[in-house]
Amino acid sequence: MAKKTIKDLNVQDKTVLVRVDFNVPFQDGKITDDNRIVQALDTIKYLIDQDSKVVLFSHLGKVKTEEDKAKNNLEPVAKRLSELLGQEVKFSPETRGEKLEQLVEELAAGEVLLVQNTRYEDIDGKKESGNDPELGKYWASLGDVFVNDAFGTAHRAHASNVGIASHLDSGVGFLIEKELKYIGGAVDNPERPFVAILGGAKVSDKINVITNLLDKADKIIIGGGMAYTFLKAQGKEVGKSLMEEDRIPVAKEIIEKAGDKLVLPVDVVIADDFAPDANTEIVSVDDIPADWEGLDCGPKTVEQFKEVLQDAKTVVWNGPMGVFEMEAFAKGTIGVCEAIAELEDANTIVGGGDSAAAVAQLGYEDKFTHISTGGGASLQYLEGKELPGIEAIADK
Ligand code: ADP
Ligand code: MG
Repeated sequence: MAKKTIKDLNVQDKTVLVRVDFNVPFQDGKITDDNRIVQALDTIKYLIDQDSKVVLFSHLGKVKTEEDKAKNNLEPVAKRLSELLGQEVKFSPETRGEKLEQLVEELAAGEVLLVQNTRYEDIDGKKESGNDPELGKYWASLGDVFVNDAFGTAHRAHASNVGIASHLDSGVGFLIEKELKYIGGAVDNPERPFVAILGGAKVSDKINVITNLLDKADKIIIGGGMAYTFLKAQGKEVGKSLMEEDRIPVAKEIIEKAGDKLVLPVDVVIADDFAPDANTEIVSVDDIPADWEGLDCGPKTVEQFKEVLQDAKTVVWNGPMGVFEMEAFAKGTIGVCEAIAELEDANTIVGGGDSAAAVAQLGYEDKFTHISTGGGASLQYLEGKELPGIEAIADK
């Protein structure tokens, strides 16, 4: 059933609790990529315009020890957000208690408060991550309505998303709405041909994605480390390439079921070491030597992938085509980026943390229709599974 969105809620002059995903990367105390904060602005600005009193919750990293607390202090995010919004953002150093309650109480219409890292509550007994019912109820008691806009944690049932949602009227924010529109639209209602590109490290991580998309896509391109388990399943030798012996049977099943839907590499870039300066060669998938490993797709494979992609109307991509982090093994991933960049009116979507990083690192970010902000969440969505953080939101 369709979920309520922020536009379905009465937020005017209300205290609105918002779960955002401010789990941003830090280096030496500085935010190195503020994209997640930027992505939450639409929802926050809308609430400010509605004269809401905005209370923001987010986790940051994992918190198991007191040192983790210092390392994962959310306060710098309040500063960055305040720069981006052009107005003061208040900060509560505490995740519960009188001080927090007072800060919420004192908020005026259109003011914004960020609460300290929700995972500070994990220190004694995983209250946040374990969705402790008392904690969710307490947080919910601070506000009138709840908006979940943290797509990146939507695949988890935590106190700050599922917990709060079970006590208040609720809706998804603009970011989650956008993610569902693009990823959901592509998977459930694709304009055809629909080509899925799956790669990355392991078959075992992606089996459910492959099987879910097998029924929906017209072609499935397989690259990256997971290709070698498929090649092995076809009886080929893969040397020292990444290969999961115990997944050979399921790879065989998929090959059989998929028929000519499945597009596997025909040549690969092999290396004598997993290193940027290793010796490399390009060989047919029939000629991988025993003591070498395949780290990228070869040029013939890239041509073949480009051919398959050239008339695609919908493309969903999860998992890099090779070890793109090393220049010597980035050509397969670049090739796929180029092929997608050339598509004129296709709906092109990237899901997966490393895949999104690859697209950004290689400079193709603006060539895609949508790059998901949630690695694990987008993966789970592509598996055809429900996301608890969204399921918990009120139905329309
Ligand atoms: P995503 O995060 O997009 O879902 P994965 O986590 O499944 O992607 O996989 C990404 C990783 O897979 C990258 O770090 C990349 O280096 C690695 N990888 C890709 N191809 C190979 C390969 N042939 N051998 C080993 N690792 C590979
Ligand atoms: Mg990954």
